[in-house]
Amino acid sequence: MITEFITVTSAGQALHGAREDSAFLAGGTEILRLGSSVSRARMIDLKGLGLDTISVENQSVTIGAMVTFQQALEHDAVPGYLKEALRFCASRTRRNMATIGGNIALVRDDSYLLPTLVAAKARLVLADLATDGSYVEENIPIREYHSFRDHFSGSLILGIILNKPQRFVASSRFSRTAQSPAAITVSFGADISSGEPHDVRICAAIKGSGVVRLLQVEQSVASGHYRNADDAVALAGADILFADDSTGSAGYKRYLLGTAVADLFRCCLAAMGKGESV
Ligand SMILES: Cc1cc2nc3c(=O)[nH]c(=O)nc-3n(C[C@H](O)[C@H](O)[C@H](O)COP(=O)(O)OP(=O)(O)OC[C@H]3O[C@@H](n4cnc5c(N)ncnc54)[C@H](O)[C@@H]3O)c2cc1C
Repeated sequence: MITEFITVTSAGQALHGAREDSAFLAGGTEILRLGSSVSRARMIDLKGLGLDTISVENQSVTIGAMVTFQQALEHDAVPGYLKEALRFCASRTRRNMATIGGNIALVRDDSYLLPTLVAAKARLVLADLATDGSYVEENIPIREYHSFRDHFSGSLILGIILNKPQRFVASSRFSRTAQSPAAITVSFGADISSGEPHDVRICAAIKGSGVVRLLQVEQSVASGHYRNADDAVALAGADILFADDSTGSAGYKRYLLGTAVADLFRCCLAAMGKGESV
């Protein structure tokens, strides 16, 4: 039950107000929903921090953590691949409330945005308190935030930076209906400026398994190991423990992941004008 509601006007105040029983309140779509995964007594409201803006500088787009899905969808500077992922949240009512920062912080196994942001090589601007209590900000790759989740669990996300305008990024989401939880959400990103896929990132949110990077497939694509896109099917998910649940059986999820990765790889090849073959 929520018993305390704190309003703050700076990121430092928000961090100093944080305790074990507190949570940062953004759009509240997760915190305030029935059966929420976040059960905390003390809410620190982020509305007064001015983190709800989108800015562009030298082809780099910075999106404040409190920007809502709908606000980002309606902004010209937000790349199409991110808009595709924002639309994975099919409810417009929820898109009007849900924030980008809240979505990243949750790291849900059916995350709308995390796979796409990892594939895009997005960066996060985080605020923290150092051991002596002083306020610090850092700019880190989102993959680091994902890999060292516990280390950043108390960090305040200030915003995301998308600074790779030429990158190919595409995503797919599989669910029974647009409003149902996804079995698989997967994204494929690569630098294709040289005519070959480099700096490949493939990330999937898999219901029951979590958010994972497909490191072996990334390496195989980047090293030119595959002859065609379908060769990626076998390795995708080879080291993942899939679970049976209401979104589908373990075998179905493995099948979806493999075929989706191959499809996205095919789209990447097409974007390079290569057709089917690598
Ligand atoms: C019916 C329903 C279905 C949903 N389905 C999905 C789904 O399929 N996929 C999905 O990804 N989400 C889903 N959600 C959850 C949610 O709508 C989104 O993840 C949303 O983006 C969360 O953002 P928020 O601003 O509402 O977060 P809040 O509810 O305000 O906060 C969520 C968590 O993030 C933390 N947080 C918020 N902002 C920050 C910040 N700036 N820095 C650090 N921590 C922060 C909070 O402390 C809290 O722990 C669903 C919610 C509902 C009600």
